[in-house]
Amino acid sequence: MSDCLFCKIAAGEIPSNKVYEDELVYAFHDIDPQAPTHFLVIPKAHIASCGEVTADNSAVVARAFEVIARVTRELGITDFRVVSNCGPQAGQTVPHLHFHVLAGRDMTWPPG
Ligand code: AMP
Ligand code: ZN
Repeated sequence: MSDCLFCKIAAGEIPSNKVYEDELVYAFHDIDPQAPTHFLVIPKAHIASCGEVTADNSAVVARAFEVIARVTRELGITDFRVVSNCGPQAGQTVPHLHFHVLAGRDMTWPPG
């Protein structure tokens, strides 16, 4: 999508601090980290949110979780939280599917 921030980051048109990249997904450090480790995993193809996942595009979701396991393992992280906000009321500010990966501090439950 031409005017989507995360499409532009995945395409390298806007700089980011890359953590991982393959043909399906891109991972990069959050610009406003909410924990000592906070990176985002996004599909390279535009999907607006978790609410837009279908049988036709869900392979990238499996890949995203493979990447989350791989990157956290490489960073030596065993305890972490994966969050995907869907819709403004849930806190989504960028309408391109992304998984937050947060680690390095105590987490509370339920989230605010
Ligand atoms: P959400 O609010 O769940 O939609 O998450 C969007 C996340 O994107 C927030 O945690 C922002 O800090 C992060 N973010 C926004 N712009 C950038 C950027 N240019 N580079 C890295 N992270 C960003
Ligand atoms: Zn997009």
